[in-house]
Amino acid sequence: EAQKESRGFQTEAKQLLHLMIHSLYSNQEIFLRELVSNASDAADKLRFEALSTPELIANDADLKIRIEFDKEAGTLTIADNGIGMSRDEVIENLGTIARSGTGKFLEQLTGDQKKDSHLIGQFGVGFYSAFIVADKVDVFTRRAGASASEGVHWECHGEAEYTIENAEKDSRGTTVVLHLKEDAREFADGWRLRSIIKKYSDHIALPVEMLKEAAPAMGEEGEEKAEDAAPEYEVVNAAKAMWTRPRSEVTAEEYKEFYKHIAHDFEDPLAWSHNKVEGKLDYTSLLFIPSRAPFDLYQRDAARGLKLYVQRTFIMDDAEQFLPLYLRFVKGVLDSNDLPLNVSREILQNDRNIDAIKSALTKRVLDMLGKLASKDAEQYAKFWDLFGNVLKEGPAEDFANKEKVAKLLRFSSTHTDNAKQDQSIEDYVSRMKEGQDKIYYVCADNFATAKSSPYLEVFRKKGIEVLLLSDQIDEWFVGHMNEFDGKQFQDVAKGALDLGEAETEEDKSAREEAEKAAEGLVERVKGVLESRVDEVRVSTRLTESPACLVVSEHDMGPQMRRILEQAGQ
Ligand code: ADP
Ligand code: MG
Repeated sequence: EAQKESRGFQTEAKQLLHLMIHSLYSNQEIFLRELVSNASDAADKLRFEALSTPELIANDADLKIRIEFDKEAGTLTIADNGIGMSRDEVIENLGTIARSGTGKFLEQLTGDQKKDSHLIGQFGVGFYSAFIVADKVDVFTRRAGASASEGVHWECHGEAEYTIENAEKDSRGTTVVLHLKEDAREFADGWRLRSIIKKYSDHIALPVEMLKEAAPAMGEEGEEKAEDAAPEYEVVNAAKAMWTRPRSEVTAEEYKEFYKHIAHDFEDPLAWSHNKVEGKLDYTSLLFIPSRAPFDLYQRDAARGLKLYVQRTFIMDDAEQFLPLYLRFVKGVLDSNDLPLNVSREILQNDRNIDAIKSALTKRVLDMLGKLASKDAEQYAKFWDLFGNVLKEGPAEDFANKEKVAKLLRFSSTHTDNAKQDQSIEDYVSRMKEGQDKIYYVCADNFATAKSSPYLEVFRKKGIEVLLLSDQIDEWFVGHMNEFDGKQFQDVAKGALDLGEAETEEDKSAREEAEKAAEGLVERVKGVLESRVDEVRVSTRLTESPACLVVSEHDMGPQMRRILEQAGQ
């Protein structure tokens, strides 16, 4: 086992590596953010394990990151004393891309560098970004609790293979050595590194240290002194958990960088909300709305939830107990002062305080979205495109906030006849006709079909607006929504049509005449269709089409039927 072993990357990892190197080229400096971010995660993990196994951390409790460089050799070293990795963990974490859906992700790539580099972000291939600037990367690591002889050396030239061997390491943690490419040597520079760390890693709670740079030598004496003294390090970032700072002191840039760190995302968030709550419960929350949907948004087992801290100590990722499922796109941090440090997922599930926090955070998110909608229509439209269908799960899951969620929903309607979903239910209600007491909608497989539905004819004629629903979830959603502001939702394709307006004498005699004239026809149609329909009747709902099929009031709609058919029912 101690022997040097050469291993190939998974095909997919290879492809990603290639992409990483070529498509992120325009923003080289982000490699440092990714490596610092990993070191910070490693420190969090160690602190967490040390809660139950204090000896893991005891002899070296001062967790930190050290960054050093050698201009002559063209190397850059990022060392941490965090959790480290065992040999198996190195293979697992640096040699494969274990996440499901990698193949699907690669299919989405467009070849357009800019778009693809955005896609990469959601993949969290952070470590590989080292190869943007390095043509060779060495990783020396030793798992907390392992002995010096269990150290591991991983080496890779950014191509199809890497090697791994056991190597003595005298301290816990991970050291990454980058051998800078000829055109990336500029990064072996103290000033440059400090400014990158300030820019991207100021919010990292772990101190990032660099050697104090001696001022230009003053004379013989000064130089000698510097040689004798032990190297002196200084902390170059703020090194304070960002969410503990007052809102007024945190800049938008800092919030954005912090989001990228915790969400493993490359892109800025759409919105955030930072709150400190004191009183019966004592906690701080910092919640973000991402500007891109993860590829596994609809996968049941996908990771979701907040990063949980207890009194500034990291406890777990993906604590899903603090938000309802229909807000699963939200990322963020919750730092509680009430929960015990040894809190587990199981305890979370049975703690009454959690429900109180969950309901408060739900309101925060809904308010944040409401604010975004009223403040910035363009950004809200972006949000809606990404997560609108998830939000539509809200009325079914969260009865208490039904109206609040409903106000955040956006639809296509005959008011604009546009596929863009940008009309709110409140907009609709404000345009309702005198005497109209229902919210009308039509459901179809796609927008074009919905828009040209024959059921709409009479509504168009009378100038009554109809919502055009064509998302898979819509029929199910409308079933749970049921009503808004005391107004029932009514499917225009279902049951008898009652437009809520009195029939005039004129209308009535016209209808009776039509019914009489068509009596023979109705009988013949009934005869032909026999048991396949419940009823055939003369209708005023059509103005151009000769006939239409109507589902009776309590039957399932066509979309719902199809969903059940697909599910094999
Ligand atoms: P991510 O950080 O999104 O998980 P990365 O590609 O940045 O993805 O890192 C992959 C994995 O490698 C990490 O999840 C972690 O398990 C491991 N890793 C990377 N850097 C370190 C480090 N400095 N210390 C310990 N483990 C690390
Ligand atoms: Mg990372």
